[in-house]
Amino acid sequence: MTIDRTSLRWNGWGPVGQPDALPDDSSAWDWIADALGMQTPLPKTPAKDLGACSLPASGLDGENRLELERIVGANQVHTGDYERAFHARGKSYHDLLWLRAGDLSNAPDAVVYPRSAEETQKLVEFAAARDIVLVPYGGGSSVVGGVTAREKGETRLCITVDTTLMASLVTVDDTAMTATAQAGIYGPALDDALAAHGVRLGHYPQSFEYSTLGGWIAARGAGQNSIRYGRADKWLVSARVATPSGLWRTEATPGSAAAPNLNQLIAGSEGTLGIITDATFKIHDIPETEDYRGYLFRTFAEGAEAIRQIVQAEIPTAMLRLSDADETYFFRTLGSVGKEKGVKDNLADAYLRLRGYAERPCVLLVGLEGSTVNVSFARDRIARLVAASGGLHVGKSPGASWKAGRFHGPMVRDPMMAHGLGVDTLETSTFWSNIETLHTAVREAIAASTRETLAGTGQTGIVMAHISHAYPDGASLYFTFVFPRRLDGGLEGEIDQWLAIKRAASDAILANGGTISHHHGVGTDHAPWLGQEKGPIGMQTLGAVKTSIDPGGIMNPHKVLG
Ligand SMILES: Cc1cc2nc3c(=O)[nH]c(=O)nc-3n(C[C@H](O)[C@H](O)[C@H](O)COP(=O)(O)OP(=O)(O)OC[C@H]3O[C@@H](n4cnc5c(N)ncnc54)[C@H](O)[C@@H]3O)c2cc1C
Repeated sequence: MTIDRTSLRWNGWGPVGQPDALPDDSSAWDWIADALGMQTPLPKTPAKDLGACSLPASGLDGENRLELERIVGANQVHTGDYERAFHARGKSYHDLLWLRAGDLSNAPDAVVYPRSAEETQKLVEFAAARDIVLVPYGGGSSVVGGVTAREKGETRLCITVDTTLMASLVTVDDTAMTATAQAGIYGPALDDALAAHGVRLGHYPQSFEYSTLGGWIAARGAGQNSIRYGRADKWLVSARVATPSGLWRTEATPGSAAAPNLNQLIAGSEGTLGIITDATFKIHDIPETEDYRGYLFRTFAEGAEAIRQIVQAEIPTAMLRLSDADETYFFRTLGSVGKEKGVKDNLADAYLRLRGYAERPCVLLVGLEGSTVNVSFARDRIARLVAASGGLHVGKSPGASWKAGRFHGPMVRDPMMAHGLGVDTLETSTFWSNIETLHTAVREAIAASTRETLAGTGQTGIVMAHISHAYPDGASLYFTFVFPRRLDGGLEGEIDQWLAIKRAASDAILANGGTISHHHGVGTDHAPWLGQEKGPIGMQTLGAVKTSIDPGGIMNPHKVLG
């Protein structure tokens, strides 16, 4: 089952009508205003209603429309305002600036919903023959400009191909432990269908509820439990892709040495080579037991060192997530403003002060999943290792509250944007030997560029980070930054403010040994930095693959290669 588009916010995150995660009367607003040096009450910056926005006229003429209807059926071709607005952009802060201001100049001419690989292939061939741009769209949760329908200067007809009517689990092979599903299936639907067979894929990005299997593969994403279940490029076994050169099924044999594995071209292709219609992926038994708990460290460096030792000792974990001191403080304070402290809280505070963890603690969340025997072995080894590294066990409650809200953090973005605040995230990765350097450099770049954009206002931003994914050789760093928006320059001024911060952060990442993306992908937002990371031969190779499969450049143009 797909999710009815009208039940989702076209210009925000989550369902229409969900209660605000930070209601207007929350005392959190005063605390946030104080931290950012802003006056209260915070400004009101509501999003424009769709009825008050004007869309460019659809360029889909009668003949092309008839042809599309012949391929996918009349009910699957949409040119109405809601469908075109919903598919105009993705869900990054940058996208939401445009959408909330009611600028829908990027809307596609039409949105079509194919129901099978064969229909999708016919659609791609029709578009290639008529030089029509196709933008593949799963959940539309891209945060890098990956689904922007009509890029600036694009004069061709632009059609968004929404994959979410291709949403079935096809087969489960519980001997090989693989399954095949159609690409447009949403996370929860896939999880439920697999659970009926006692298995799971285990890919849980924070966007899980509103993103699809095809989008996970195309963006080469990583779920929160990637240490146990792997990233998309690790769990992908084979994909079927509708391309301008024909319907392509990539190889599937385990451990093949027959030339480079071409699945790695599909993982991270971001719709620029074709439309994934279905995919085979690795599955795992639903774990017998789960154990999520928290530890505190006095410094980020000590916590990072503990993670390094855990992964290099090959202790089986599902998640290791270390917040820096600012992130630990931000979320603890946001969760507690306006609440009276009880005796238990005061005793806990006193204990932390006594043990030296009260000043600027960093919280490490450890998630374990698997057989009871393995989980208990891992828990004991980690407890010893963490204690020896200067960590303090703080029990299961931080793990339980993280797990209960694991997909809900992004729900605070819409209310923040409605109060004159900007909030964005970005991610990178590097080797263990470079983690501290990259963490410091990117934090400082974001903080300094934010301050510059706010010069003369007396206001400032907040920057925080966590280690989100860990590997034996390195880890990813995920940054969140909150800042007062420059409302005096209109939409253009706000875009400029975001661009200045984004540029400073991206330059700092590349200058300090990080990747331009650990799991969000490239899209248009990261494309200017890709060449620096891949080098000229790498870019030439990617360009040659693109031209060979899609000679007319109709598949999601301007993304990845720029
Ligand atoms: C609040 C929030 C939290 C997020 N958390 C995470 C996270 O924890 N981990 C993570 O990895 N990402 C995360 N993301 C980013 C995003 O959710 C992922 O990139 C996700 O994989 C995109 O899936 P989607 O179905 O929404 O794809 P879309 O956004 O629809 O598309 C993403 C890209 O893939 C292409 N595409 C989509 N479907 C297909 C297809 N069938 N065939 C070919 N190309 C296709 C699109 O053209 C686009 O370039 C987050 C995003 C948000 C908004």
